[in-house]
Amino acid sequence: MKDYANNEIKINGCYGCAYAKHKFSIPCGMVYENEYLTISQDWELPINGWIVICPKRHIEKFDELTDEERNIVFKFVGLTTKYLKQIGISEYFSVEMEERKNIHFHISIIPKHSWMKEISSSWMDNIGAFTDYAKANLRTKKNFKDIETTVKKLSKLLKNEK
Ligand SMILES: [Zn+2]
Repeated sequence: MKDYANNEIKINGCYGCAYAKHKFSIPCGMVYENEYLTISQDWELPINGWIVICPKRHIEKFDELTDEERNIVFKFVGLTTKYLKQIGISEYFSVEMEERKNIHFHISIIPKHSWMKEISSSWMDNIGAFTDYAKANLRTKKNFKDIETTVKKLSKLLKNEK
């Protein structure tokens, strides 16, 4: 896997489990963790404020979350979108969960940046165009700095939440 800043990360086995155990990190650092979950910038995508909430336990499907885990995970989906709006990342977000075989379950909180509207007005059909655009055009020092700033601000806001 290449991280958002194009650094190679080599892990044997599941990346989600490895991240939960601090076996790798990305340049902007982790936003938040508690006993149930981690919150981070998307490891691979240089899109400011694209935040991933990942349960620490290895599951692949939404319905494998216990009631307790689901409540905590959704509480943090709510807090994260609220704080990202407060920081000024975007007014609207897409919250996505995709179940995939052998992929650690995670929830992506995706900001709707104005540059995305310039690529396409249709959201669902074009998420691949947004990620391709970001990988080709947004690996810049300025964008990496913006990502770090967002992570620091969000981390500060979430620090005392449980
Ligand atoms: Zn895993």
